[in-house]
Amino acid sequence: MSSSSAMAAPAETALDVLRRIFGYDRFRGQQADIIDTVVRGNNALVLMPTGGGKSLCYQVPALLRPGTALVVSPLIALMRDQVEALTHNGVRAAVLNSSLDAATRRATEQALENGELDLVYVAPERLLREPMLRLLDRCQLSLIAIDEAHCVSQWGHDFRPEYLKLGLLAERFPGVPRIALTATADERTRMEIRDRLLADGGETFIASFDRPNIRYRVGLKNNARQQLLAFIKAEHAGNAGIVYCFSRKRAEDTAAWLTQQGLKALPYHAGLDDSLRQYHQDRFIKEDGVIICATIAFGMGIDKPDVRFVAHLDLPKSIEAYYQETGRAGRDGLPADAWMVYGLSDIMQIRQLLAQSQADDRQQRLERERLESLLAYCEHAGCRRPALLNYFDEDHPGECGYCDNCQQPPDTWDATEAARKALSCVYRTGQRFGAGHVVDVLMGKTSERIANFGHDRQSTFGIGKDLDKREWHSVIRQLLALGHLQPDPEGHGGLQLGPDCTPLLKGEISLQLRRDPTPARKARRSASAIDGAALPGWQRLREWRLMTAQEENVPPYVIFHDATLAAILDARPETLAQLAQVSGVGQHKLEKYGEAVLTVLAEIEAESETDSS
Ligand code: ADP
Ligand code: ZN
Repeated sequence: MSSSSAMAAPAETALDVLRRIFGYDRFRGQQADIIDTVVRGNNALVLMPTGGGKSLCYQVPALLRPGTALVVSPLIALMRDQVEALTHNGVRAAVLNSSLDAATRRATEQALENGELDLVYVAPERLLREPMLRLLDRCQLSLIAIDEAHCVSQWGHDFRPEYLKLGLLAERFPGVPRIALTATADERTRMEIRDRLLADGGETFIASFDRPNIRYRVGLKNNARQQLLAFIKAEHAGNAGIVYCFSRKRAEDTAAWLTQQGLKALPYHAGLDDSLRQYHQDRFIKEDGVIICATIAFGMGIDKPDVRFVAHLDLPKSIEAYYQETGRAGRDGLPADAWMVYGLSDIMQIRQLLAQSQADDRQQRLERERLESLLAYCEHAGCRRPALLNYFDEDHPGECGYCDNCQQPPDTWDATEAARKALSCVYRTGQRFGAGHVVDVLMGKTSERIANFGHDRQSTFGIGKDLDKREWHSVIRQLLALGHLQPDPEGHGGLQLGPDCTPLLKGEISLQLRRDPTPARKARRSASAIDGAALPGWQRLREWRLMTAQEENVPPYVIFHDATLAAILDARPETLAQLAQVSGVGQHKLEKYGEAVLTVLAEIEAESETDSS
């Protein structure tokens, strides 16, 4: 603990600290207001999406106010990451949790008591023990930050009983401003946080939950694995990503298959033993370009900023789950992809599960609503952002220009007649046949199976020759998504009429459906992507970063983020002073890595000159 204090000099402003310590030029969104509130000694509730920049909201005040900032966080890996990142910026930060050996713990406690720490991260259960509280009584606290504040909510998925007791911090440490932070958006959680953690008042800051750097895409499944491979190869070669799968087996199989195809892919799910799971997670964090094939168990508490894509090979559980899972992409603010494929069989499967649910009525209704919103999102023909954000009660004007529907607006067509034909064919054939058979009847295909059932003598036989097979499947999928059709409750894969299809069947209402794109269309690279990989020297600089990270045993992004590497290559600094201007290069990192970076840049320069001569 001998390093000199990163504590701001008396006259330093928040902006000075941002520039000197973190190397950034300006605050994002409401950061400046939030920081100002806390620096003035007031409480704040901060709701910001993942990647929005919550950490700086307490880290900067921690350096501006006298004393040590106490940061409560439930996630050990996240605390360690943050402390590593802070230490690399020359900030005196430490963690107190169960992972420490006794000697380190005592040394850290001593440093805390001596006022030698700018920030200390503590898990809630440790914090609430009396010896810890008494130690803190003897310290000067600059502020208390409560991260992942939604853990106080009993309704959410991450409820932690210890969080309820954090309310006592108000009485125990009067006059110390508290800042509660979360990426969970809904109103109920927000109220609970306020009631339980900030009952004595405070300002609320709600950021937009839009993630402008994420491109949302939902495609149709035809061969999911091949589609995934083509997507990764065309757009994310060498990038880190997460592939979410429905089951453990699918996660395993997908990882094995991607590995066969020459990619670095690893499975992650609750069925793996702890050490292997941990090993895979470590590789994901510490190596470049690892792809994790995971069930939903993966992601919570992983702070990796340079995940370039999140892919869904199966439908997520809800829009909320989709938002959280896709939100793990692009925390660093650089372009990232949320990519999903789904198809008719996914809807059948998920509607089936719902039909067989043993839950009580209220729960079933909630589950159904959740599913309807998700399917409506998938089939949505307009900009994805309003469709996604409306779910969190946020308005978005649409036309973002950075989602599939904005970039390739889908055609819609009047499918009223086609829908009526499909529904009546399902009805006439007895509501027990699957999509394949129904389409064969509609198209007037002669086969033994059709003859055996006498379906070739029915009025709906051959009434749908105007559409091809793919188009009929598209109609049926969308009718399923809209609930005009439903799977048979026994789970044999048969189709039945949905409860509200009568007006449509009778021709009392009309129906617009989206026209599916023809599968051959190639995915385009986004023009707006800042593409580090395309910059000359990218590989060399990344190699240097990886080597340095390995020497220090930290993840590469602790040395510099991708965004910073790209900015360095773009700026091509030749002096330390020029390098200092690059976003993400603070004073401490300049001193530590500046010379090495300039050397690598000079080598890159020399190589490119030899190449071109
Ligand atoms: P959150 O905790 O809200 O998910 P972080 O605090 O981890 O987000 O910040 C996300 C990323 O954005 C980090 O890489 C961080 O360094 C970067 N960042 C935050 N604020 C700024 C800023 N004002 N300028 C540039 N980068 C920033
Ligand atoms: Zn859009």
